Amino acid sequence: MNKKSREEIKLMRMAGNIVALVHQEMKKVIEPSISTLELDNIAYNIIKKNKAIPTFLGYNGFPNSICTSINEQVVHGIPSKDIILKEGDIVSIDVGATFRGLVGDGAWTYPVGNISDDIKMLLETTEKALFKGIEQMIPDNRLENISGAIEDVAKSANLGIVRQYGGHGVGHNMHEEPFLFNYRTNSNIIIKRNCAIAIEPMLNLGCDEVHTLQDEWTVVTDDKKPSAHFEHTVVASDEGPLITTVVM
Ligand code: MG
Repeated sequence: MNKKSREEIKLMRMAGNIVALVHQEMKKVIEPSISTLELDNIAYNIIKKNKAIPTFLGYNGFPNSICTSINEQVVHGIPSKDIILKEGDIVSIDVGATFRGLVGDGAWTYPVGNISDDIKMLLETTEKALFKGIEQMIPDNRLENISGAIEDVAKSANLGIVRQYGGHGVGHNMHEEPFLFNYRTNSNIIIKRNCAIAIEPMLNLGCDEVHTLQDEWTVVTDDKKPSAHFEHTVVASDEGPLITTVVM
């Protein structure tokens, strides 16, 4: 678990600011009839305009700047001109920006027009799980307490918890140690002062199980029920949890 210097934290906040600017725009433009490739173009332009690098573009061969995952898609959906959002959908947008070598990573699930009450509950609960997890991002606390806080919120609403994916350390690389499960695993890892972790619950309206489609990227729920994904990059600072992926 890498401790970040004051300078590194400053750069991570600048990277996180750019991620937040993308999300601010996504919230405005997501509506029925826009394609996920249009969203990708908008994100790419914002990241470039702010002198950052789209972290996802080319990462393990990923073809775009953001992941766009619709409805039963959990994460890693690939933007396409042929994927058009429609009323009642939800779309999870995952964005990474690298600014002067440091990474910000943040995801949010957006409603497209009006959505059903059960899907609204899914979104609200997953967002709540994220913030309950963030509350535990304190120096010398156990990493397990973040996992447990997320698990408790998910279970209170009877939602499925994605097991194969989770949060991660972040800094000079998008994925650093430690891995952060979204449920308790009896881990004894202690959160170090000024380390940074991307906290990212992925919760499902149905079962826990997911699999990857033939495109080798898109992860979907086995029962095809909707999934939500909320993520912030957070530093365990002495002043409390410092979220980097917000507009400065
Ligand atoms: Mg992440």
